[in-house]
Amino acid sequence: MATMHRDDDVDVNVLQGRRIGVIGYGNQGRAQALNLRDSGFTPLVGNRDDEYKSRAVEDGFAVRPIRAVADEADVILVLIPDEVQPEVYEEQIQPGLRRGDILCFASGYNIYYKAIVPPEGVGAIMVAPRMIGRAVRHLYQQGLGFPCLVAAENDAEGKSLPVALALAKAIGATRFGAFESSFREETVIDLFAEQMLWPGIIKLCLLYFEKLVANGCDPEIVTTELHLSGEFVEIAKAMITHGFFGQLKLHSQTSQYGQLSRAGRMAPPELLAQVDRAMREVCSGEFHAEWVKEQKAGKPNMQRLWQQVLEHPLAQSEAKLESLREIIARPGAGEGR
Ligand code: NDP
Repeated sequence: MATMHRDDDVDVNVLQGRRIGVIGYGNQGRAQALNLRDSGFTPLVGNRDDEYKSRAVEDGFAVRPIRAVADEADVILVLIPDEVQPEVYEEQIQPGLRRGDILCFASGYNIYYKAIVPPEGVGAIMVAPRMIGRAVRHLYQQGLGFPCLVAAENDAEGKSLPVALALAKAIGATRFGAFESSFREETVIDLFAEQMLWPGIIKLCLLYFEKLVANGCDPEIVTTELHLSGEFVEIAKAMITHGFFGQLKLHSQTSQYGQLSRAGRMAPPELLAQVDRAMREVCSGEFHAEWVKEQKAGKPNMQRLWQQVLEHPLAQSEAKLESLREIIARPGAGEGR
């Protein structure tokens, strides 16, 4: 089993005497800064003079320019979007780094793909909550934790991992558990879900919709059955409480037989080839290179792809059911990572 740390194994005192800086006050930045403060630390918040700054000021933080926080802090939590981190790092964080400083990331992406290469003597750690920022804060306030992956790069002296674990404890993660992982593992797991699992689910849902409508079923009823009823969410929740397979027992015998006898058919060789391809593109950095190129070109393909999905009949059917969606929407439904 992977090594998991819980509250009792972790000493937050390794953070004593270290100045913590939180760069960015968005999803993760706000949640982690507030949790750190409630755990007895006094993080400095770094944000440009922009929309999120006023939120941090309202929450009682003294907000400084990013460059100033990079200068003053010894442990710097980089909590701005992965896409903008390399440029912000180069221009505003890197000039403020000193030997012994530690950079902390909430994802493995930029370190794994070497889009950020910390200088000699500066540690890179990862504290990656497997939870959206809002829930990181909400669970902390309820006295609960959340899963988290931690890692330390170039940690020959073994000094950085305890800092990562202490941060994981201070933000509330080790109440649930922090798994020792790596920048590579976090990146591959995350991107493979985004590029194989979720696209596969999206495509199957669209095929389900298209086939039923082509066979005379009403688009709005199919849309309701597909996701608006909330059954999808209930099944996902039951996977947590009853187990991935155990939840099948909550369905009728007909459903169980249908699901188990047909699951094997859903992975023909062509699909398996695409699964291999997605893994290759993630591990080799091919996807990363494509995404960097796309961003530099002003995201023309992203805009085209968005246009395409918004024109799909499922989107149109969903728009007709807008009022129903409000009624059916349940607290917690749709809250993913
Ligand atoms: P957000 O999109 O919420 O970050 C917004 C913050 O970034 C704001 O403070 C914003 O400030 C700042 N920002 C955006 N663009 C720039 C820029 N060009 N220069 C300076 N500051 C900028 O990020 P997330 O919290 O979603 O992600 C942060 C990290 O956490 C990432 O590494 C992500 O992978 C990881 N993560 C995110 C999760 C999530 O819940 N979303 C879950 C787990 C990990 P302003 O616009 O005011 O300038």
